[in-house]
Amino acid sequence: MSRRPIAWPAAWRGIAQPVAAAAALDAAGFLGWVAAGAAGLVPLALQTALLVLAMRALDHLPLTPALTDLWPAFVAEYDVWITGPLPTPAGSLVGWLLLGGALACGLLAWLTLPFAARADGLLPALRRALASVISSLGLLFLAETLLGGLMLAVIFAVIKTSRTAGPEGPLTVVAGMGLTALLLARRIGQTAAGLAARIPPAADPPRCEGCGYDLTHRPSDERCPECAREVARSLGVSADRTGTPWTCRGTWTLALACALQIVTSPRAFYARLRLREHPAGAADHDPEADNPPRGGDPPRNDDPLRAALRFSLIQYVELGLGCWICAFIGIGLVSAASWTGSRTTEAIAICTFSTVMTVGLAWIGHRLAGAVAATIWISRRTLPDARWSAIVTEYETAFLWVFFVVQWLLVLSFYLAEDWVTNSVGRAWAWRVLGGPAEPFLMLGLILLLGMLWLARLERIGRMIRWANY
Ligand SMILES: [Zn+2]
Repeated sequence: MSRRPIAWPAAWRGIAQPVAAAAALDAAGFLGWVAAGAAGLVPLALQTALLVLAMRALDHLPLTPALTDLWPAFVAEYDVWITGPLPTPAGSLVGWLLLGGALACGLLAWLTLPFAARADGLLPALRRALASVISSLGLLFLAETLLGGLMLAVIFAVIKTSRTAGPEGPLTVVAGMGLTALLLARRIGQTAAGLAARIPPAADPPRCEGCGYDLTHRPSDERCPECAREVARSLGVSADRTGTPWTCRGTWTLALACALQIVTSPRAFYARLRLREHPAGAADHDPEADNPPRGGDPPRNDDPLRAALRFSLIQYVELGLGCWICAFIGIGLVSAASWTGSRTTEAIAICTFSTVMTVGLAWIGHRLAGAVAATIWISRRTLPDARWSAIVTEYETAFLWVFFVVQWLLVLSFYLAEDWVTNSVGRAWAWRVLGGPAEPFLMLGLILLLGMLWLARLERIGRMIRWANY
């Protein structure tokens, strides 16, 4: 009835209207996908290649260079890259950047899977996630233009001052890049969630929270015929799923208390968490319930995913603050001397840089755990609505505090007792078997162990929220 929306400029249209651009791409055919991917990735790869060339050119500048030395240096570098047999070094650089970019898009789409999931299976969800990633490439291009240009300017300034300037400038720009990447990844998740929200949730009858028996038309004073659990405990006013204090009044103090509860007693939290989008009572006078909106994002004040996203943002900000303070105290303890002038700015830059890197690594681990859980839940059809996996993923940011506390306790123990791990396993053994001190291996091993614990936890949580009535 209406013409197909144009898909190929999705990356550029996505700068202003990410959900609309991703929806157009999601509806496109194979050629539309290829064109949209190329329209997003090719400019990005070319710009990255130019930035690499410019960085190399900066290395070959004369001592105390002037601005006029920049262009000849760049042209000389360009000549080196563009000459030679086909593919020239520049050609293979662009080729590798395109390949790496395409792989990164695929990986990012998988990490976004919980947000794109709905009741329609794994492949449509991955498709929506990839559409969200591609429709954010234009914004990534703009961010790279800005931050890459800033990086070149900062490096030029460092060279111009005969390399006496500290590492503050480059460190701060790299930290800015990391923060931009995190914000962009969050926007991709929200785009995917907006896209998934356009698919109506699968009609799912009220079920017994104990065994999943269909409770349609069962009086609330009865018991479940399968497992004898009171029907009222699964449905209605005396239901177990009354919602958590955080979702009712979302304050920062409640967010911390809620995080503590998620870590220490996940059952108490997830057995109360509301996951269905429309309360049974509200569905009667809610026109959206049977007529899903098409034009734009539906107004969802009671959306459990929105509350979960706010919760995770608070956790990330608090984690970042915690990392920054710990790093600052750590540097203070190590240097133990009073800082003067440039030393303080250097310390601040190092703390900011390491905080952004730590939060970035935490984000990757968190999303990996969420993606693995969502893949398993979707392919096993554990949940009636796979969108719940996004809600769980966001609340599970609380578990990042366990990683944080364990790692900082380890670092503190290294500060107080130095290489106690290497000493306890034997220095000769550590050098022979591990090829160096044992401390990094202990830290990495604990991260892997906690990661496995996390997956086991998510497996149990999947069973806790399987029926998830109001
Ligand atoms: Zn039952």
